[in-house]
Amino acid sequence: MTMTRSKWMTALPYVLILAVLALLPLSGNEYRALIGTRAAIYWVLIAGLNLVVGYAGQLAIGYVALFALGAYTASILAAGNVLPEVSPALALLAASGVGAVFGVVVGLPALRLRTFYFAMTTLGFATIVTQVALGWQDVTGGGIGLSGPSLPAPFDTAWGLYGLCVGLAMIATLITANVAHSRFGRALIATRDAEVAAEASGISKPALLVSVFLFAGAAAGLAGGLFAALQTYITPDAFTFDLSLLFFISILIGGRGSILGPLLGTIILTLLPEIAAPLAAWSTFVYAGLLLVIVLAMPGGIAALLNRENRKALPTGRVILPQQAALRSLLGEARRKQRLDLSGIVLRFGGLRAIDGLDLSVEPGEVHGLIGPNGSGKTTTLNVISGYYKPQEGRLTLGDSPLPAGLPVGRAARGICRTFQTPRIIGEETVLENVMVGGTLAGRATFVEALLSLPRARADERLIRERAVLALKAVGLDGLGDIRADRLQHSELRFLEIARGLMLHPRLVLLDEPAAGLSTIEIERLGALIKAISREGVAVLLVEHHADLIFDVCDRVTVLNLGRVLAHGTPAEIRVHKEVVSAYLGA
Ligand code: ADP
Ligand code: MG
Repeated sequence: MTMTRSKWMTALPYVLILAVLALLPLSGNEYRALIGTRAAIYWVLIAGLNLVVGYAGQLAIGYVALFALGAYTASILAAGNVLPEVSPALALLAASGVGAVFGVVVGLPALRLRTFYFAMTTLGFATIVTQVALGWQDVTGGGIGLSGPSLPAPFDTAWGLYGLCVGLAMIATLITANVAHSRFGRALIATRDAEVAAEASGISKPALLVSVFLFAGAAAGLAGGLFAALQTYITPDAFTFDLSLLFFISILIGGRGSILGPLLGTIILTLLPEIAAPLAAWSTFVYAGLLLVIVLAMPGGIAALLNRENRKALPTGRVILPQQAALRSLLGEARRKQRLDLSGIVLRFGGLRAIDGLDLSVEPGEVHGLIGPNGSGKTTTLNVISGYYKPQEGRLTLGDSPLPAGLPVGRAARGICRTFQTPRIIGEETVLENVMVGGTLAGRATFVEALLSLPRARADERLIRERAVLALKAVGLDGLGDIRADRLQHSELRFLEIARGLMLHPRLVLLDEPAAGLSTIEIERLGALIKAISREGVAVLLVEHHADLIFDVCDRVTVLNLGRVLAHGTPAEIRVHKEVVSAYLGA
């Protein structure tokens, strides 16, 4: 296999780190073995935690708890003071298992609690674990502690253990990189930065987070078991808040959404107290200082400093030129056409009837315009259809089966996609990756298959990437695939959202003011694109203020006023409708 230059550049830092790790034993200095082993053990934990913190954006600051649980599980089982003694290998495996279970237990609050509240629960759990370790003397040895598992040869020497831990650290790196570069990794970032768009793409946050918490917990538990073997003796004070901060800050220094950054962060933070020994006593202070520097001076962490793509010049004078042929190959294979029906929908916000008995049908193969003054309920209607709002009355059906009210995640699987009045994109990811998020449901491989990068997972990646390239061509953004999305212009983001929606091979496309902020020529091309999408058999519901666009592309128009249908008909009928003209279109 030939590697491209950019692939080499990506691999280079890892090769250098590996070379240093491979050469370290030649120094013969056993103290270095200890430091290297410790860094490798920390990395096993941090690699997993990186998916939670760096990718999913969950502030899990108390991971030392899972580390301690792993250490105690391995030690207790190997000592045989509660259950019959087990082999060290089995003890490590059990540590990993206990870590996985408690990883989910500690993680579950994240499904309900936001940021800092979740951070506090993880810290609370860390305190509980330490208190239990102190108090449960018969089992844990209390403040006196207990011996760690002694591993068999060849892992019973300093360099033997070093080899084992470095090997496991390499495996952890590979596995997390596999997840990160799969649809699951993109989905994690999507839930972090564009949660509603993630939902609209069919990404179920609870299922995704539970998989990641299981994995990160298993890694933390294993790391704890290895740590107990390294220390040969563990006490509760080995598992301090400082250590938890080290884990967390390694990821922050490294930069979120990166594997290499946090790896370098781990190496730096493990080496720091060794290089500057007097700092060891000041570690909390140093960490706090580092944290401030990162937040203020380099919010993107090491990864942002290393990223060259950010600084690549953007193509100038670029135009958005949708390509019909690409659209046809993307939506080509026929999909059963279905009609959307709303009947008697009522949605109240407190006393306000935002939608007041709405009937609406959108036919496949047609563009249906939804217009009306500001506040007439257009966006709310889209939110009802896409499941974000649960109407108090009325029925929704697509095809022959009802659409359950208030369940946004299921909409993508039914073939409903949408864009947002304010584009919801992942600014830190490339344009292509943003579009690929829309293809999450197209994947067949499970999380475990993605973890190991098995053939099905790789086939998923190829398929989703191919489709995303097509989708970018279809909306006219090809050539911008590897640009960070936050560098695009506003008008390009609107087309980007359409591309992401098309990845679903939709039956129904909901567009919320897609022409806002576009130039005249861009609106014209948008109109042609919308029309072309509907001509592939897709039902399109278009909310728009630009009357020209509405009258150009719509087959049917519904006019809303105060949450009610004011008029309904062909563009020609609406254009001359007396009430519409006086209430909305104006003179
Ligand atoms: P538009 O037709 O401009 O898209 P919307 O559907 O956004 O109108 O809003 C319809 C009405 O419902 C407005 O009066 C708006 O203030 C109100 N509304 C919309 N969303 C909410 C909400 N989440 N809570 C309370 N009122 C809302
Ligand atoms: Mg609106």
